[in-house]
Amino acid sequence: DMNRLYSERHIPVLLNEVVDNLVWKPDGVYVDCTVGEGGHTQAIAERIAASGGKVIGLDVDSEVLQIAERNLEAHPNVQLFKFSYVELPVLLNLLQVHKVDGLLVDLGVSTYQLKAEGRGFSFNQDEPLDMRMNLENDLTAYDVVNTYPEEKLADIIYSYGEENFARRIARSIVQSRPIHTTRELVEAIRRALPYKEIHGRKRHFATKTFQAIRIEVNKELENITKFLSFAPDFLSHGGKLAIISFHSLEDRLVKHAFKDDPRLKPLGDFIAPSLEEISVNPRSRSAKLRIAERV
Ligand code: SAM
Repeated sequence: DMNRLYSERHIPVLLNEVVDNLVWKPDGVYVDCTVGEGGHTQAIAERIAASGGKVIGLDVDSEVLQIAERNLEAHPNVQLFKFSYVELPVLLNLLQVHKVDGLLVDLGVSTYQLKAEGRGFSFNQDEPLDMRMNLENDLTAYDVVNTYPEEKLADIIYSYGEENFARRIARSIVQSRPIHTTRELVEAIRRALPYKEIHGRKRHFATKTFQAIRIEVNKELENITKFLSFAPDFLSHGGKLAIISFHSLEDRLVKHAFKDDPRLKPLGDFIAPSLEEISVNPRSRSAKLRIAERV
C-alpha cells in the first residue's frame, strides 16, 4: 500500500503558468514528459477534456507511475506510459502520433521519490545508496560513490552540485570507502566540511553533494540535451515547449537551445514562482519555467 510508504502529495510547480502557456489548442495532443504524481497532467487534461484534447504522460519510475495512475484514473483523456522522454520518438512512432501541440518537461525529483522508503535519494533517511529514477538502469549512487576516481567525483560535485568544497568532499568520500548507506555518505561529507559550513548553511550541508550524485546517476543533463535536439521536430506549427528546471546548468541548456534553435522562438524570459507559491511550496524556490514556440 502506497499510503503506508508515503502520504504527502507532490505540489506541482508553476501550475497555472504552465497550463496557461502550454495549452493553446483546445482539441490538441499534449505530452507531459515527466508525469510524476500527475499534478500538471491532471490540470492540462481538465483544461482540454470538454473540447476533445488528450494528454500522453510518461515517467521512468514505475512506482511513481502507479501513483499517477491512481491520481488520474478519473481522466479518460490521459494515457500513461513507462518511458523515458529520451525515447519519446519511439513512443510517438508506436502510437502513430506524428506531431503534438505541446511538450512539458518538469525536471528534478518528485516528492514521492524523496519521501518513499528505500529509494536512497534523501539525506534524512538511512538507506542503501541508490537514487535511480529508473530502477531498470544499472548505475546506482553506490557505484558512483564507491568506484569513481576522486578527480571525477570532485568534478561532478563541483559542477552538478555547485559545491565549493567539492575537492575536500571527494577526498573524504574516497577515504571512507566502502560507503553503503545515505547515512554513511552524509558522515563522509560532514568530515570534509568546516564547522561553519555544517552549521551555517541555509540548506542541509549534504544537499549539494546529494543533488550532484543524483544528476550523475540519472544522466539528467545528457537526457535534457538529447531531448532538446529532437523535441522541436515533434511539435506542430505553433506548438509549445515548456521546461521547468531547478538547476542553473539545466536552465542554461534550455535557454541556449531556445535561443539558438531555428525551429524555436522563445516566448519571453523565464517565469519564476511568486513569493506566495514559494511560501506554500519551498521546493519551488529555484524553479524556472521557459516556453518556446515551434516556428
Ligand atoms: N510534474 C509532476 C507533478 O506535478 O506531479 C512532477 C514531476 S517530478 C519533478 C519529475 C519526474 O520526472 C520524476 O517522477 C522522475 O521519475 C521523472 N523523470 C526523470 N527522468 C525522466 C526521464 N528521462 N523520462 C521520463 N521521466 C523522467
